[in-house]
Amino acid sequence: MITDTSHSLFEKAKSYIPGGVNSPVRAFKAVGGNPLFIKSAKGPYLYDEDGNRYLELINSWGPMILGHAHELIEKAVKDAVSSSLSFGAPTRKEVEMAELITHMVPSIEKVRMVNSGTEATMSAIRLARGYTGRAKIIKFEGCYHGHGDSFLIAAGSGAVTTGVPDSAGVTKGTANDTLTAPFNDLQAVQTLADANKGNIAAIIVEPVAGNMGLVLPQPGFLEGLRQLCTKEGIVLVFDEVMTGFRLAKGGVQERLGVLPDITTLGKIIGGGMPVGAYGGKKEIMDFVSPVGPVYQAGTLSGNPIAMSAGLAMLHYLNTHPEVYTQLENIGNKLVSGFTENLKKLGLSYTINHIGSMFSIFFTDKPVVDFDSAKTSDTVLFGKYFQAMLNKGIYLAPSQYESLFLSTALTDEHIQTILQANYESLEEILV
Ligand code: PLP
Repeated sequence: MITDTSHSLFEKAKSYIPGGVNSPVRAFKAVGGNPLFIKSAKGPYLYDEDGNRYLELINSWGPMILGHAHELIEKAVKDAVSSSLSFGAPTRKEVEMAELITHMVPSIEKVRMVNSGTEATMSAIRLARGYTGRAKIIKFEGCYHGHGDSFLIAAGSGAVTTGVPDSAGVTKGTANDTLTAPFNDLQAVQTLADANKGNIAAIIVEPVAGNMGLVLPQPGFLEGLRQLCTKEGIVLVFDEVMTGFRLAKGGVQERLGVLPDITTLGKIIGGGMPVGAYGGKKEIMDFVSPVGPVYQAGTLSGNPIAMSAGLAMLHYLNTHPEVYTQLENIGNKLVSGFTENLKKLGLSYTINHIGSMFSIFFTDKPVVDFDSAKTSDTVLFGKYFQAMLNKGIYLAPSQYESLFLSTALTDEHIQTILQANYESLEEILV
């Protein structure tokens, strides 16, 4: 496969952009080799600058749930463009969007639009702090909530330790206000809550975690968080930036039946445009400016082009429940094919799967939290990634990511992916 143009673009990019990319994981550092520069995409395919075609399983990290360049979204954007790109004033579309979101997501009564998942989670935490008058938050190891300072915190040793910054530039003061617990460990959360009684504003969790690879909540985990938050007056934030409108039209909260106080959204809600949102109970959302004391604003928030793309996407998902059945079928076919391939090759790697999200971990241990995710052989994953890429299958360039499926995958595509998976596994084991 010739990738010379991508290679030379990357060399040039490194002169002008830190690391040559505008978001770190795109640099392929975790898997080696050079990133591909993508020129266009249609349906399930990406096309790079050298004209190579790839069947892809990332879908822009989640938003392209109907595949790339879907005609409905494309039309909505084209129709909106001629009425100007931005007004900085309220629009009808924002009202329609808010109404539709409150209709689709069970726990949301009011919602505020922002421009990214990061903005949504940062704003949600500020709101929880403003609402409760408390400073500290609890997050889970291996969960990612965007690059806001409060979230870039690794665990200290033991459950009842304060965090240490995970990124240069995050102050110790900020880190001290973020407490961390292992995912799926209710006892650790209880211990933190007891040790910090009356000081915890929020618990933020990816209710199905996708940022340490895919990790599912064990039965009772989310319910336990809900009970604890209700008892202690803590705001429960579900970060559904990945899972919202993907695992069900109302996200994990609809699928698993546990309701948070605040939900953060992103990705699919923008149909591929830069959009995020946070919403929840009226009583809490009315703490947001201009009615309440918690300030949050945005020059381009509720931008008409982004709203048009997002509205087209959400309308479609809201009126086509068969999308979710289709995605379940695609996910089940792929995962049972992968499982069969592993069996044929005598391998016992772990596959975590729900609906249209899954991860293959290169470990034979069950993966239930970040520590168990880290038992994966990441060198082997890198080889697998490269082998798949050489066969025209584009995966997320890190072991610690979930894959996202779209409705653009047909049975024929599934067979191609399964064949590549078998051959790649066979190849890397030599
Ligand atoms: N929350 C979750 C669960 C995410 O997966 C991400 C990004 O992948 C974010 C928040 C941050 O969203 P964004 O990259 O749009 O800022």
